[in-house]
Amino acid sequence: MKIINPATEELILEIAEDSPAALQEKYRQLRAAQPAWAAKPLAERLAVIERYYELLDEEKNELAQTLSNEMGKPVQQSLNEINGARGRIRFFLDHSAQYLAEEWVTTEGGTKEKIVYEPLGVIANISAWNYPYLVGTNVFIPALIGGNAVLYKPSEYTLMTGLAIQKLLYKAGLPAHLFEVALGAATVGDALLDLPLDGYFFTGSYPTGKYIAGKVAHKLVPVQLELGGKDPLYIADDVADIAGVAAGTADGAFYNNGQSCCSVERIYVHEKIYDEYVAAFLAEVKSWKIGLPAESGVYIGPLTRAAQVTLLEAQVEDALKKGAKLLCGGKRIDRKGNYFEPTVLADVTNEMLLMREESFGPIIGIMKVPNDDAAIALMQDTEYGLTAGVYSNDFARAESIMKKMNTGTVYWNCCDRVSAGLPWSGRKHSGLGATLSHQGIRAFVQPKAWHIRG
Ligand code: NAD
Repeated sequence: MKIINPATEELILEIAEDSPAALQEKYRQLRAAQPAWAAKPLAERLAVIERYYELLDEEKNELAQTLSNEMGKPVQQSLNEINGARGRIRFFLDHSAQYLAEEWVTTEGGTKEKIVYEPLGVIANISAWNYPYLVGTNVFIPALIGGNAVLYKPSEYTLMTGLAIQKLLYKAGLPAHLFEVALGAATVGDALLDLPLDGYFFTGSYPTGKYIAGKVAHKLVPVQLELGGKDPLYIADDVADIAGVAAGTADGAFYNNGQSCCSVERIYVHEKIYDEYVAAFLAEVKSWKIGLPAESGVYIGPLTRAAQVTLLEAQVEDALKKGAKLLCGGKRIDRKGNYFEPTVLADVTNEMLLMREESFGPIIGIMKVPNDDAAIALMQDTEYGLTAGVYSNDFARAESIMKKMNTGTVYWNCCDRVSAGLPWSGRKHSGLGATLSHQGIRAFVQPKAWHIRG
């Protein structure tokens, strides 16, 4: 397997994928190591994660460099990601004892009753490349804290980061063979589905998630899916600071080159403020520096995957054919690497691929709408259900719209945001189950009901 720098097209590393026998051996080691880890007091498991939390900060510059080299995000954004992951780890460190403690339900009378939370066992974490620190943290940190062993399959696009995470966990004091890395791409991920694992926790695209859920269904073990989105925003006509909202929402659409599951992917703007909003949005997009991830001040780097450039070209072509107006960008940048111009299209409709399929790139469609009802109908016209947001000065107005959204997350006057204290979940084609919050701690344990008489 070749790891290529997406900014320079240079070969970074060539590494052998795990064979089925190698995966079997990693599984065997995990299975053997897990009971002793689960038997340790929670405080000991937390101490290891606390040390990992510190090491992430101590080694952040080197880790950020590795991540930027292999997936192309500007180094500052890699640093932001590592810092964000630390925030989530802090949440797990501070709240796990509360949510994993045994719960007495009945303490009076002849029969006492309590709930005890036990680990699932050995789980698979099949992960994505766009935020390996963040999406990985959602799974392997609470899984380890809960007493599980983890077979972690990083994306083939962030394999070196996956190995760096493993090294850091062991440096932090994690006992041997509790976090094994499955090296490889789709076939290696597929081989994990044949191992007798106790849970499958997946972050990635809808087609892969659907395939995984189908293939492991017969095992009757927990399956969680964090999938893609086509997240809409509605900008109502009563926003006070149109330029400020335009700049903030442009960042929500283009941060990480638009490669975020909760990137803004569609924008509906009330007709009364449409022209002013679009002008300010364009000014913001045109102000960004495009360049190598290591250059200072760069906001737009290369896309991680070369194939995404072709997908974006096809979305632009389809939109233009169906009547959209190109306001800026629209094509591949003529330089080495997977660079695509930040692209804004207006006069779009929900019939265009750009407004239906996940773009996962530096591109956005903006549509003028006459009123709130039209915006609600258009926002809901999607197979996805990850997030939806409303910008308005009136909370009651925004609230009545947000209540109608069939999404796991809603935003008022903000977007492209995840909080460790809140459940992160997608509906419809955006996923199954929740990570983060108390739900994301309990997702990695199973309750045992104790009936105690005597
Ligand atoms: P992907 O589905 O291509 O791959 C995800 C992982 O699955 C990779 O590790 C890959 O090697 C593995 N895989 C591929 N085929 C497999 C198979 N047949 N069996 C088992 N494993 C297999 O997705 P991606 O390109 O890595 O990630 C981008 C997608 O992830 C986007 O759709 C994005 O929205 C989504 N995502 C969602 C969230 C969320 O929290 N909801 C977060 C980040 C990314």
